[in-house]
Amino acid sequence: MANLSWMSPDYPVEKYDGPPRNVAYIDQVHFDASLQPKHYEIAGTDPNSKVLILDVEIIEATGREPYRGDVLIIGQKFARVGNVPDKDALLADSKVRVLYGKGRTLMPGMGDAHTHFTWNGGDLDALGDLGIEEHTLLTARSAECYLDSGYTMCFGAASAKKRLDVVIRDAINAGDIPGPRYLANGMEMARRGGELVGSISAFADGPEEMRKVIREHIEVGVDQVKLSMSGESITEIRDAEDCYFTPEETAACVDEAHKHNKRVCSHARARDSIKQSIDHGVDVIYHASYIDEEGMDALERNKSKHIVAPGINWIIATLKDAAMFGYSTEKAEQVGYQKELETAERGMREMHRRGIVVLPGGDYGFAWTPHGTYARDLAHFVERFGFTPHEAIIAATYGVAKLFMRSHEMGQIKEGNYADCVVVNGNPLQNIAILQEHDLLNIIIINGRIHKAGHKEYVIPAQDVTGVHSMTNEMARVGMQGKTQTAF
Ligand SMILES: [Zn+2]
Repeated sequence: MANLSWMSPDYPVEKYDGPPRNVAYIDQVHFDASLQPKHYEIAGTDPNSKVLILDVEIIEATGREPYRGDVLIIGQKFARVGNVPDKDALLADSKVRVLYGKGRTLMPGMGDAHTHFTWNGGDLDALGDLGIEEHTLLTARSAECYLDSGYTMCFGAASAKKRLDVVIRDAINAGDIPGPRYLANGMEMARRGGELVGSISAFADGPEEMRKVIREHIEVGVDQVKLSMSGESITEIRDAEDCYFTPEETAACVDEAHKHNKRVCSHARARDSIKQSIDHGVDVIYHASYIDEEGMDALERNKSKHIVAPGINWIIATLKDAAMFGYSTEKAEQVGYQKELETAERGMREMHRRGIVVLPGGDYGFAWTPHGTYARDLAHFVERFGFTPHEAIIAATYGVAKLFMRSHEMGQIKEGNYADCVVVNGNPLQNIAILQEHDLLNIIIINGRIHKAGHKEYVIPAQDVTGVHSMTNEMARVGMQGKTQTAF
């Protein structure tokens, strides 16, 4: 067994349920400081506003075990976490908005490492011809859907039209439309004959033309650029195991983007596309399904410079859910998705074991990966990649903040951090799937502003005679032990 490769289907699946390992993994990633994205702020939060959230079970995403406490937000940031002094004075102040957690779980807002706001759940090819006005509205709607789903950070993985991501990012930051913090991408760049969806691709062949296309995207204000390096099984003509970029092209793209202080992401399913991404310094590697031993070793040696996001839900949903839309499971298996899923699972488990940062998110917006179902990714990480629920939450919060290069001020419940958080009715450490239930995401706060909270969050819990515990408090405690509560 000692020399059985992790690539073998017989390689044993490790069972781990200890403390989260990936805070340390995330901490050792260091993108060069020159690649720091512009520091965007979301406008509109009153610097003097105060929100007091009482009696929550706090998952900080620092690796610390959850604990009971209160949280005070002042302006855009967490002012106090755990223990809030002078609570009586705050409660007596009519300007303080008080939310009663009643024992529910408070955790950082989630993040998606591979977002397509511009995709609409239908036919991707038709997006090329969709009018810009309609497309802008649709993109704004996706942004709001992310926030409604408890997501406060999204990292753009490609925009169907050149400026759509940029325009929506700016509108969110101006406070004009609701949405998560966003880093915008441009159109994915493909070689002629190597494109996945032609109508929404930017074409370039050879290092010089690729440099030019990257500069054009940077001029319109993208935060990162996307290379469409490998094929994709569903196309049936561009195999997921084929790489269309040459090493010279990949090197030129990274050089040009980094020269302009922008990071590069790659659609890289094929072995050689992953290898080139590591050799030439592509910062964010998407999919990485067909990584081999050599690639894995190279990635491990360079793990401080790369983040991997598999976007695995696309493959799972194509195998399981696409039949409802007329794409049968047999077909999905026949073109290669079952093989890719099994191969990718082994690869992601091995990456996680070796301390390579793997983040959730990806490719929501197809017909069978609808907007609003983003948190499926966290369940996949637990069920398939050997993450504990705590590790999946840390990857989706602190990990995506690292991808933003803002992990010092986002992605954790910590005094001084931007106040982006959700209050969940139930315990996601016991059942990670509850994060998919919008009805259980009772409170959503971004940048210190309450995006969602219902009447019940403002109702003072009834005290019992001793005043020690409220009734609802006890109910919540029971709920924490097992099934989720639905009524408060
Ligand atoms: Zn994608």
